[in-house]
Amino acid sequence: MTDIIVIGSGIGGLSAAALLARYGKRVLVCESHTIPGGAAHTFKRRGFEFDSGPSFYCGLSGDQSLNPLKQILDAIGESLPVIPYDPLGHYHFPEGTFAVYSNAERYRQELEKITPAGAKEFQQFEQRLLGLYDAMKDIPTIALRADWQVIPLLLQRYLPSLGKMLLNLPIVQSSVGSVMDATIKDPWVRRLIDLECFLLSGLKAEGTIAPEVAFMLSERSRAGVEYPVGGSKAIVNALVRGLQRFGRELRLGCHVEQILVEGGKAVGVKLRSPQSPLKRGAMSYEERGEILRAPIVISNATLWDTYNNLLRPEDLPASYRQAALDTPAVDSFMHLHLGIKADGLENLTGHHVVMHDSSQDITVPGNTCMISIPSVWDKSLAPEGNHVIHAYTLEPFAGWERDDNYENRKREKAQSLYRALERVIPDVRERVVLELVGTPLTHAGYLRRYRGTYGPGIAAGKGMFPSMFTPVKGLYRVGDSTLPGIGVPAVAASGILCANTLVDVGLVLEVL
Ligand SMILES: Cc1cc2nc3c(=O)[nH]c(=O)nc-3n(C[C@H](O)[C@H](O)[C@H](O)COP(=O)(O)OP(=O)(O)OC[C@H]3O[C@@H](n4cnc5c(N)ncnc54)[C@H](O)[C@@H]3O)c2cc1C
Repeated sequence: MTDIIVIGSGIGGLSAAALLARYGKRVLVCESHTIPGGAAHTFKRRGFEFDSGPSFYCGLSGDQSLNPLKQILDAIGESLPVIPYDPLGHYHFPEGTFAVYSNAERYRQELEKITPAGAKEFQQFEQRLLGLYDAMKDIPTIALRADWQVIPLLLQRYLPSLGKMLLNLPIVQSSVGSVMDATIKDPWVRRLIDLECFLLSGLKAEGTIAPEVAFMLSERSRAGVEYPVGGSKAIVNALVRGLQRFGRELRLGCHVEQILVEGGKAVGVKLRSPQSPLKRGAMSYEERGEILRAPIVISNATLWDTYNNLLRPEDLPASYRQAALDTPAVDSFMHLHLGIKADGLENLTGHHVVMHDSSQDITVPGNTCMISIPSVWDKSLAPEGNHVIHAYTLEPFAGWERDDNYENRKREKAQSLYRALERVIPDVRERVVLELVGTPLTHAGYLRRYRGTYGPGIAAGKGMFPSMFTPVKGLYRVGDSTLPGIGVPAVAASGILCANTLVDVGLVLEVL
């Protein structure tokens, strides 16, 4: 008997599953890939451990953290060894490099060196966001749920914070752009804030919601920036261990073909047939174990994949389905995964963002390149004497095909990433011992994501991320196309909201 089937083992799916297991639910996670973690999975080639996506983490350990992921790890009895570091990165603009410190004081000092007037304006900007953070910080995400029962809970336990939140309501709903317009004129600082927002949400300040940046700035200063020992897979493994500790199962290589809906209610999933097993033809789906039944199904696939591929059109009201599928999607990515020789790179730091051309918008594909070199912090991720690198930049999905020109186009599109890397390691091309180039097709394929998107591009003021609820009874969604949005802490929060909503308040309070 299974109470809940979770489709997908991204951080959102695993967070919901591990918490539900903690609450005593019989959960089964079906992951299509042979490696768990979705966008946060790690893969190994010739001794190099590559993060496929995230590498920037904050508040994974310590008592100060408000990271929802940390709250889940605490709840399931897991902890992560981490390596703290500061500066958290370097932003390389055409005219010079800016060292980015997570410590707020150091951040302002660096800003002052470039623009003293801008640094003063930044302080006002920060103050406004700090008020918002102060209001939110005393309500732990692990206490929240997505139904009406959250109201008595907040009133009983968090009344003073609720009052502060009400005072900050205008900022809660506004964009970072409007806070920036009210406080900052300096063009250098405005571009910096746009970049910070873009790295967080895939949108510039005008499209990013203020609470997201309030949290990011305050949390990275308060709880610090850390890299998990072993890379992103350490986070994934901790969630899987938590799930298994409560006797629940993760099935890898288990692709869900369809969510089964009967009488408007989710009743289970149909799995993709395994490749040519003997006598398959003579057996029913159920006998082959390809139909799994449960009264509750949670999809960690994106909104587009869930509504377009996993449900039949008739399972959803037509207007709802169309509106959901019309949700704008942020572009996909070009990836460059490299193994390089490390000799002479003793002073290398781990995170870099390179902006090639100031006359072009930071969101133009190829113009802003992100670089992560995690072997700077954790040497075990590369063979001795080497470093492991992941560089990536936005790239539209449209126009990519595996045709005769595919390899040429891949090589050509990887050039902006190589040029970015040359800002950090001038002779990087001569150092390469392993090169893997990924395109939007690679991203979409390995991560099973619609058009390889980073996530919904829902700009502040233009709509809200959808909630966990769907029009199909018993079917819920978690992950980066639900509230609160994109990023590891956000999708962990979506897992909390979903898990908590599916159990009694009493159970949640017990864990609290
Ligand atoms: C390049 C890159 C860098 C990033 N950097 C950072 C960072 O530094 N810090 C940060 O906080 N965030 C970062 N992010 C964002 C963050 O990684 C994601 O928002 C988050 O990991 C998404 O998690 P998710 O649970 O929503 O979904 P996903 O990770 O997409 O997981 C969904 C899972 O569902 C599975 N699945 C889909 N369909 C099916 C099916 N039919 N059957 C079975 N399984 C299925 C997929 O295989 C996948 O494993 C980055 C993202 C990218 C792409």
